[in-house]
Amino acid sequence: MDNQESETNFETTDNPHLAEIYKNLYEQSPGLYRTVDEDGIIIACNNAYAKNLGYSKKEIIGSTVFAHTAEKSLSTMNECFETWKNKGTVSDVELFLQRKDGSIFPVLLNAMNMYDKNGKLIGSNTVLRDMTKFYEAIQLKDNIITKQLETLQEIDLQKDEFFSMISHELKTPLVPINGYLDLIVAEKYGAINENIKSKLEIVRSNSSILLNMISDLLDAQKMELGKLKFDKEIHNLHEIVNETISNLHPALERKGISIIPDLQVNVSCYCDKMRISQVLTNTITNAMKYSENGDKIHITLSKNGSYAKIVIKDHGIGIDSKKLDKIFVKFYQVDNTFTREIGGTGLGLAICRGIVENHNGKIWAESDGRGKGAEIHVLLPLE
Ligand code: ADP
Repeated sequence: MDNQESETNFETTDNPHLAEIYKNLYEQSPGLYRTVDEDGIIIACNNAYAKNLGYSKKEIIGSTVFAHTAEKSLSTMNECFETWKNKGTVSDVELFLQRKDGSIFPVLLNAMNMYDKNGKLIGSNTVLRDMTKFYEAIQLKDNIITKQLETLQEIDLQKDEFFSMISHELKTPLVPINGYLDLIVAEKYGAINENIKSKLEIVRSNSSILLNMISDLLDAQKMELGKLKFDKEIHNLHEIVNETISNLHPALERKGISIIPDLQVNVSCYCDKMRISQVLTNTITNAMKYSENGDKIHITLSKNGSYAKIVIKDHGIGIDSKKLDKIFVKFYQVDNTFTREIGGTGLGLAICRGIVENHNGKIWAESDGRGKGAEIHVLLPLE
């Protein structure tokens, strides 16, 4: 209710031209002005208001504010009216008006009290700012952003596919290199002297590290693109665990690490045998990597409700409790100076989680902290 004099009481000013100035401002303003009485009946409007709505002033005067409000904004208009009655002002309310030809357009509404000479509230002056251009600009910007986003997504997809293709091309020649190295070192093509054999062992070990890294990159990429294939059938988990352990035998032997299996149940699950074996290989290899030479790794297979539970437990460097979940995030390595020395991409466990979750299972890590060993728990639904 403040600023009463400055609102419409033109006559009380000493300046004889002021009323004319205000009138001119009201009439010629590019903003849409309307003046309503206490019941919301329009008692005056400016040229811009009449022109924009496509009515003559005659048609406008006497109609209610609701008559020019688009149907979708009627409740907002109602709230505005109530707010104005209770508080005396309405600020920056967005709503849609409807023209005589039925078209609608957005406006920003501000309303303030109007008083008579005696200070009695007689209605409100309302300023409506046509927001069409503003909305169009936002829409244009949105369209540009959406288009840019689409282009970026397309580039990202192309990059992912290119990356996938390169990883695949890198892996292809490495597979026979690795295979033949295995056979040569195993002296399948004839005896080799110890000196050459020890050098070839190094070549083979490095080539298999390279192959594992590229395979991880390829799998992670395929997973991201939703293209990692699963070939599921009913398989005996007991067998998968045993086969995986025996495949890892040479590597375990090289590090002098023994596996203590405790396979308590003979259970089956509907799974991709190769992928589940990959999960076990990855977690056992980690247990090996982060253990001292000569340590023991325990593998337990048990039943947990409707799940088979596999736990891979080591006595190695352990994992800080705050990092137990992070190690399943792509490229995360607890201590990358350490892992740089022993190799790794930080992708293994992220791939394991992807595989286990694809089987509707769960995988998580437990550890009593650094230096206290670690356990990887895997739950897989029983068939
Ligand atoms: P990486 O190729 O680096 O081993 P992973 O995704 O398999 O990648 O593991 C992520 C990180 O989790 C590792 O870099 C390591 O810091 C930690 N980690 C995984 N397994 C173990 C474990 N058994 N003991 C201690 N740390 C582990």
